Amino acid sequence: MKLVIAQMKHETNTYSPVPTPLARFAVSGEHPPEGEAAIKAYRGTGSAIAAFIELAEAAGAEIDVPIAASAWPSGPVHDSAFEYMAGRICEAVARGCDAVLLDLHGAMVTQSFDDGEGELLRRLRAIAPDVPIGVALDMHANLYDDCAANATVIAGYQTYPHVDVYETGLRAGRAVMNLLAGRARPSMAWGRKSMLPHVMRQGTDDSPNRELQARCREIEAQGALSASLFVGFPNADIEYAGLSAVVVTDGNPAQAQAWCDELLALAWAQRAAFVYETEPLSSSMMRAQALALAKPEGSGPVVLLDHSDNCASGGTMDTMTVLGAIIDAGLEDVAAFAVFDPAAVAQMIEAGVGATLTLELGGKLDMPSIGLQGQPRSVTGRVRLICDGEFRNRGPMGRGELISMGPTVVFDTGKVEIVVISNHVEPHDLAAFAAVGIAPERKRFLMLKSRVHWRAGLRKLAHAVVECDGTGVCTSDYTALAFKNVRRPIYPLDPL
Ligand SMILES: [Zn+2]
Repeated sequence: MKLVIAQMKHETNTYSPVPTPLARFAVSGEHPPEGEAAIKAYRGTGSAIAAFIELAEAAGAEIDVPIAASAWPSGPVHDSAFEYMAGRICEAVARGCDAVLLDLHGAMVTQSFDDGEGELLRRLRAIAPDVPIGVALDMHANLYDDCAANATVIAGYQTYPHVDVYETGLRAGRAVMNLLAGRARPSMAWGRKSMLPHVMRQGTDDSPNRELQARCREIEAQGALSASLFVGFPNADIEYAGLSAVVVTDGNPAQAQAWCDELLALAWAQRAAFVYETEPLSSSMMRAQALALAKPEGSGPVVLLDHSDNCASGGTMDTMTVLGAIIDAGLEDVAAFAVFDPAAVAQMIEAGVGATLTLELGGKLDMPSIGLQGQPRSVTGRVRLICDGEFRNRGPMGRGELISMGPTVVFDTGKVEIVVISNHVEPHDLAAFAAVGIAPERKRFLMLKSRVHWRAGLRKLAHAVVECDGTGVCTSDYTALAFKNVRRPIYPLDPL
């Protein structure tokens, strides 16, 4: 038995000015790993591709891994990068195999295709019309028909923060292995609802997604091979951005359709609960100060979320609105993770540890799609630490995966320790702070450029959380996104 196992993951924010060439899909260097190097990079980690590799090895299968490519969210994937990655996977399948297992995202937009995954699967089907294809997708997938119709089995994450990525790989992979062994006949139904749930309201610690995902697990306990509710990724101006569901049963298409329809109806009934309300930034700052004054001795930090500039949703990670408000408000004992500014990092490395300097920090990237220009902030501080920015996630999210912040500096203003990085990395793991010598549990305030994933490794430290409405391409203001291509009517853009 021979299996082709591959990864091609990208969540595309079509408003993001951050470019997405092939090098962004590399763990380090210029190129994503292939073959043995790909297996070595992911075996034993919490990824879906790790689950595929383990299932194949346990079955004694021959494994061909043409590419393992994963990039932080950003603007549309360059055509050259997509053609290279899809080409590697298509060539491997053309060499012949018994099944294909794919670790994809589901919200990849390229310069030429609104549905990158569907384009890949359409090409694979043309090469191998009858080969089973199992696919693991992120909960933020924006599902198109080409993706669903050309896959044999789809399984999506059931947690946000995504702490069940490995388990999702197991569900997709086992259904395909059972099909190959003649023990299952996967039958898949899918559908969409015309709604754009807000990312800040999608966490599975909160209603309504907690209950919706619990219903998916119940449906699996009742016999489905997989049940997935995709909340979708709204910062993408494409026709089918938004919510969808997929249910796979063992040889029962009517039951698959009934369960899929049920999940979609449950989500639709909760559509108003997926709308996010913001508060003015000045009110957030006052609330944060009051919370810090009232917090008991020895309790954890007040977490300030700069959620409009989250790099794991395609943010530039260099807007200074929230950090600027923190400095202006005079907050003390703050750690800020992080500002993406390779030029400032280079300047601080040149100055050396211990040097005091004034920098024009952040604001290097314009955001023309939402009519914003980058606005650096003049900051004076001391270079406290310089490091290579590499660490391995402790988990529970992305367990064991190697992360590279690139050359990294801690810049200390006396009141705020600002982590300045050269590669985009969202803070969701304690190892990110250990790598830069900051004990987040001992800070009075923690500013994080994150929306929901921070909860995975850091939520338990927080005394309180204040969501701060700053600027960036993950803006909470849907009107600023000026959707042109998404299908209408759609909730909440239109009164449905
Ligand atoms: Zn996601």
